[in-house]
Amino acid sequence: MPELPEVETVRRGLEQKLNNFIIKKVEVCRDSTVAFPKNNEEFIKGLLNSLIYKWDRRGKYLIAQLKEVENENTQFPLKNSQNNGFLVVHLRMTGYFKFIENSTNPCKHTRIRFFDKNNNELRYVDVRSFGQMWWINKGQSLNKIIKGLGSLGPEPFSKDFDANYLKKVISKRTKSIKAILLDQTIVAGIGNIYADESLYSAGISPFREARTIKKNELIKLRESIVTVLTKSIGSGGTTFSDFRDLEGENGNFGLQTNVYRRTGKECRKCGNLIERQKITGRSTHWCPKCQK
Ligand SMILES: [Zn+2]
Repeated sequence: MPELPEVETVRRGLEQKLNNFIIKKVEVCRDSTVAFPKNNEEFIKGLLNSLIYKWDRRGKYLIAQLKEVENENTQFPLKNSQNNGFLVVHLRMTGYFKFIENSTNPCKHTRIRFFDKNNNELRYVDVRSFGQMWWINKGQSLNKIIKGLGSLGPEPFSKDFDANYLKKVISKRTKSIKAILLDQTIVAGIGNIYADESLYSAGISPFREARTIKKNELIKLRESIVTVLTKSIGSGGTTFSDFRDLEGENGNFGLQTNVYRRTGKECRKCGNLIERQKITGRSTHWCPKCQK
């Protein structure tokens, strides 16, 4: 599943590829991919003649700012153009975008297609089809309509996410620290891979009750999260998720994990064997010797 680094890589790719992309046609190939408005016609109509102006990311959500473009011969940069709301995307398990110059026939997993006037296509493909899209009109509240977005905790890179914050939110929690890191309302964007990798890097056992973790350990954990995520963004994500970049390639050509999917292999620090066990239904990988 794409996590923060993969989604951030996709965001950067979209910003780079989509220059002055004005949506002239939308084809919804699978109705359930459109989460809002409930009526697909409304979704399509809302997006037409929108310039995809800028891509932001919040947690694992991609958020495109749209500008209204009525005139075919608009000059760029746009001046005094009206906002036309937001296109929000969550890739979930297997969603990815492909940018295709001179559109070709879509594969059977194509869910939504956006075209500009030159027949360039931004294609959304999703094998397992859990991904979702929303068109939020101007004046509507993103956070109210998209519940998961409204309840997100701070971004790991923001200054709101520090040891004091962590201490405050977990001081009474008896859940494992692994489960806490996966909770998007506590911190946005971390999934299974980066939770395991961050805990290894901080030397904290994933099974520890959250409330037992001391302040100095939380300082280390926060640092580890930031370092692990930053490294991964630099290498375009990891090979393990079904994440793909805009060329349809699997991400990552460099990032090595220390524990994730290394069950039975030697720990890179101590040589002990990496173990795996489920925590709240998610496979968890750790070194019992290095993580206490
Ligand atoms: Zn070890």
